[in-house]
Amino acid sequence: MAAIDGLPPLREVIATHDLVAKKSLGQNFLLDLNLTAKIARAAGDLSGFDVLEVGPGPGGLTRGLLAEGARKVLAVEKDSRCLPALAEIAAHYPGRLAVIQGDALAVDVAAHLSPPYKIAANLPYNVGTELLVRWLTPPAWPPAWESLTLMFQKEVAQRITAKVGDTHYGRLAILAQWRTEARIVMSLPPEAFQPAPKVHSAVVHLKALPAPRYEADAKTLERVVAAGFNQRRKMLRSSLKGLHPEIEALLEAAGIAPTERAERVSLEQFCTLARLLVRA
Ligand code: SAM
Repeated sequence: MAAIDGLPPLREVIATHDLVAKKSLGQNFLLDLNLTAKIARAAGDLSGFDVLEVGPGPGGLTRGLLAEGARKVLAVEKDSRCLPALAEIAAHYPGRLAVIQGDALAVDVAAHLSPPYKIAANLPYNVGTELLVRWLTPPAWPPAWESLTLMFQKEVAQRITAKVGDTHYGRLAILAQWRTEARIVMSLPPEAFQPAPKVHSAVVHLKALPAPRYEADAKTLERVVAAGFNQRRKMLRSSLKGLHPEIEALLEAAGIAPTERAERVSLEQFCTLARLLVRA
């Protein structure tokens, strides 16, 4: 099948550069360029935006992002074996692809991107959640990025987008939905990847809100939510006991029954409680 961009098909790229997938690096490659273009489109209009991509691997999503009009892509890849394949893409799109070889958890990308930029990635599963939490907790809000379009294991995607009362509702849902509009935009079966992982995957689109959805001090909110969900089967009057001697009264003032469990408390109620705790 002819590729979208005149570059060789990904199977050929992988064979030419001998990119045998490494499990330790979470390598499950996307080979269908129509699919990677679709993921790129899920990031919205890319023209006029720089895009940060973590883990480009052989470059399937990178090519999708460039073909869909990203002004510039900065790709951070840990595996040096992928660099020659990425150099071919860079040559095909002069001045539009920069590659940094390194660990995305350690590389400082700010100097290379014009804000507001977009982040799009088929993330390595072993570092995906950690990266997301970092992106969601910058020192200031709004952040330098305007949206995140990220592939996760389906279960993680469900934890990010869960609503109060859902099985997957917890800290990640609160953290993500306090500051972004988060939704699952695509679901992918294991066979979409090479090699096929054991689990299903999903793409989540998170759009930064101009300000957090409800007023609250970030650290206090995180403390309340962590205490509540660390002992999610316990009633809040017990799991939050350590936060304040008058916690029952504060819960009631926030409109939360002290006998309730964290999984049934809405984001708005958690924020109200966090504000009351700061004042108490
Ligand atoms: N984007 C490619 C695709 O969709 O086919 C590859 C996705 S694969 C799931 C994850 C990629 O992240 C691999 O290329 C892997 O080498 C890279 N990677 C793993 N850990 C990394 C890290 N800490 N920093 C940067 N890249 C990493």
